[in-house]
Amino acid sequence: MHVRFRLGATIQCSGPLHNEAAAAIERTIDGANTVLFHKGVPRDVEPSEIGKIQSWEIQENVLCLEIESGAYTRAHDALFRFRKQIATALGKLRIGVRGIEITHFEILVPGDVPEDLIPRLPFIREVKRREGTVELSLNVSAADLENRIPDRIVRLIEEKVQARTYGGKAEHWELIYQSPSRSRTFEKDPTEVMLEKGWVKHGASRGQWIYGPQVVQLFRAFEKIVEQEIIRPLGFSEMIFPKLVPWEVCMRSGHAKGVYPEIYYVSTPKTRDPAYWEDIADYFKVTGHVWVEKIRERIDGPIGLMSYAQCPPFWPFVQGETLANDSLPLRVFDRSGTSHRYESGGIHGIERVDEFHRIEIVWLGTVDQTVAIASDLHTAYRHVFEDLLELEWRAAKVTPWFMAQEGMIGSCGCEAVGTTDYEAYLPYSNSWLEFQNVSVNGDKYPTGFNVKIQSGEECWSGCSGIGLERWTAAFLAQKGFDPAEWPEEVAKRTGELRSIFKFL
Ligand code: ATP
Ligand code: ZN
Ligand code: MG
Repeated sequence: MHVRFRLGATIQCSGPLHNEAAAAIERTIDGANTVLFHKGVPRDVEPSEIGKIQSWEIQENVLCLEIESGAYTRAHDALFRFRKQIATALGKLRIGVRGIEITHFEILVPGDVPEDLIPRLPFIREVKRREGTVELSLNVSAADLENRIPDRIVRLIEEKVQARTYGGKAEHWELIYQSPSRSRTFEKDPTEVMLEKGWVKHGASRGQWIYGPQVVQLFRAFEKIVEQEIIRPLGFSEMIFPKLVPWEVCMRSGHAKGVYPEIYYVSTPKTRDPAYWEDIADYFKVTGHVWVEKIRERIDGPIGLMSYAQCPPFWPFVQGETLANDSLPLRVFDRSGTSHRYESGGIHGIERVDEFHRIEIVWLGTVDQTVAIASDLHTAYRHVFEDLLELEWRAAKVTPWFMAQEGMIGSCGCEAVGTTDYEAYLPYSNSWLEFQNVSVNGDKYPTGFNVKIQSGEECWSGCSGIGLERWTAAFLAQKGFDPAEWPEEVAKRTGELRSIFKFL
């Protein structure tokens, strides 16, 4: 058995539906049930799967309908098809069709869908279970039905069921390369050592560090390597992406589907009139405390979030545009600021923080161009990790969380779309740390932001996030703190490490 839809609707008309009108209605309903609702439905589909007006009744100016369907010409689609036809039929009798009201709407989902996979949404009024079926009774208007709310609820439940079968994060992990192992000479936690040496101190905010000169010298050395070995040779140009990301961008990038537990929210003052804020300022002057509860009442939003994935706020630059063939592939990068994630209890050292620094590389073009750049990046990265950083590392193909969210696992049928994680071995914890990735995102972003190519070919994009904290953690965990022991290619770029603070 498949999903079924059942609805009751009333169609208000401009005049009483007597005699001739009633006859016209009967004819139109017969025609709808036998012809109109069958249009576009494959021949081998069971008739019970196709939308059908089960019963109808006239009450003065109002036509009441009961419609039922399986997956084909769903009850609500049938209703709108019928509305068009009945409007024409009654129009001939000078009767106009006014509004439609939905008196009830049920979705019957087969199977014992677990309670927690049924979405909690204002549209869902009641959930009943009987005989292996979950019956959702919806609270929807005709406009909600035109907006395909029932179809989206069904799809959402299917996705939740599928995500559960793939387990938690729905990340499929497959090793594609493992470097030779290297002699392990250092086995301390690099953050502990950095703290001892005074290279870093905790920032005042959670999961935030203040990096002293020595760490920044390492960050900059890694940036130089990325610039000299990857960004310049592969032709990427620097841009500056915004770091405050409004909901509008999240909706288009798809992050609006699930980013909420992990973001820093941004709000704005309701007004910038100093008088409106005076008592809050005075409160601090008198008590020495910031009046947070009051502030909460005086702000709008949240209007969006602090940069989370780094590349989404680039996309409005190309949104709605058609890209000239001779400008492709477009290759850009951003290293202009921080990314923010609420990592909660997961915070650890400098490798899992709430505020981090990352070089984000973004490219777009035809399918072939996009895939070719990902492949060039893999080659360049491999050279860097093998020959310059001399790391013990591995690469694995994983399914990115947003695609898992979209229920795209296994259904995209395209090997090229997906993410490769780069992981480094951490001797101190005998575990592996993801320190960067390369993603081919398919048409996700070009479609979301409506970007086209002059030739009419499909537009694809990719991105790669190089986490400076993670590179540093991986490097120090394997190589230790004596620059004399570091690979020459790193040591020559950091220069002599500067210790400028002396505390008494
Ligand atoms: P993880 O599984 O470790 O949480 P992720 O899958 O959330 O990582 P991505 O969303 O793929 O990470 O982000 C890309 C890159 O950004 C990572 O490879 C890493 O370098 C960096 N990054 C992500 N989250 C953090 C963090 N909390 N602290 C430091 N760097 C991070
Ligand atoms: Zn990205
Ligand atoms: Mg994460």
